[in-house]
Amino acid sequence: MLSNKVIFANYLLKKLKEKCSAKSGELGFYMIGFKRKEPIVLELVEFKYIKRSSVSVISDPNFTGFIFSTLPPIYRVIGTLHRHPGNMLSLSSTDIKNFKNWQRFGEYIHVVTNEDCSSFAAYLFKEDYYVRIPVEFRQLRMNVKYITTQLPGKLRIYFMEGMKSAEVIPQLERSLIHVLRSLYIPFKLRGSLFDNFKGIMRRTRGIIYVHLDDLNYPLMMITEGSITISELKSRIKELFENDYIVLYNGMEINDNEKCRKYWSKDLYFRRV
Ligand SMILES: [Zn+2]
Repeated sequence: MLSNKVIFANYLLKKLKEKCSAKSGELGFYMIGFKRKEPIVLELVEFKYIKRSSVSVISDPNFTGFIFSTLPPIYRVIGTLHRHPGNMLSLSSTDIKNFKNWQRFGEYIHVVTNEDCSSFAAYLFKEDYYVRIPVEFRQLRMNVKYITTQLPGKLRIYFMEGMKSAEVIPQLERSLIHVLRSLYIPFKLRGSLFDNFKGIMRRTRGIIYVHLDDLNYPLMMITEGSITISELKSRIKELFENDYIVLYNGMEINDNEKCRKYWSKDLYFRRV
């Protein structure tokens, strides 16, 4: 159950204002952060638009799926933030319809900002109603750390200093189910227990932590062992529309190397 306030890390205000003055028309972001009792937004990831006009945006549903599936535990999508023309901070009927759709998958907070990104209104969508809640920008000690578990393979759990284990565990449980499913259950279940077992034992996919220049958290990319870094790069390019060189331990790595070699490692994608 989410509380009646949403907290933004201070530095996001600067990022938002920059985006705001660079682009006219509607602008939308996924809010990424920790979904604790007082949810904390640590990152804004701009929508990938299918259509964008001065009054509306249609975001790419594939990109939405991508955002949800690459979040490391315990990062979560808190909701969305989008801009309205002028100073209108109330929800449009389209907004309400869209956000009721989101709400089928849980409680989310949707924030509306005005044209110059100077005022904000946040709405918490619950079962069958929504309420306006306060927005707070706060100087956060952005000390996000991680621990590595050995089960089911290496898996990282990110947390902010001062977080209680009770806040982390329920989300960790969800993440484990998600990761286990994507890593170990064979794509096509073949019916016999033995086949399933083989599928579980043969590890064909692994996680690479992809760090992008503009993102405050790593993307948890599940990769097939046989695909190359070059293929991984084009996948990222398709989503973020940039060209990159890829660094591991400060050294540029070869595009033809296989992803398998970098499972459970951190790769840094530097824009070129
Ligand atoms: Zn709107």
